[in-house]
Amino acid sequence: MDNITASELAGFGVGTLLLCATIAAPKIDSFISATQRRSLGMCKRCGDLRLIACSTCRGVGSVKVGGPIRFDFMDDVFRSLGGGESDAKTTQCTKCRARGHFRCPDCSTS
Ligand SMILES: [Zn+2]
Ligand SMILES: [Zn+2]
Repeated sequence: MDNITASELAGFGVGTLLLCATIAAPKIDSFISATQRRSLGMCKRCGDLRLIACSTCRGVGSVKVGGPIRFDFMDDVFRSLGGGESDAKTTQCTKCRARGHFRCPDCSTS
C-alpha cells in the first residue's frame, strides 16, 4: 500500500471516474432522453404519429362485402355464371370512413 503514491492514487481515481462515466454514459443518455420524451409529452398510444390504424379494415379503408360464408357462396355462383371477378367487391369502412385510420384520441385532445 505504501508503494502507491498520491499521483498514482489520483490517476487511479480519475481513471475509475472516466471508466464509470463511459459505462454510465449510455444509461444516462437513455435516461435523459426518456425523461425528455415524457416531458415533451410523446404519445404512448401512437408514438406521436397522431394516427391509429383502423382495426376493422386494418388501415386499408375498405372491407369486403358480406360474411365469408355468403361471400364464398356468391363467389361460387358468379364463377358458375362465368362472372369470375366477384371477389373484387368491397365497401368503404364505416368505422374509419374509408380513411383507414383515426386521429389519436390522446393527441387530439392536447
Ligand atoms: Zn397519440
Ligand atoms: Zn376502417
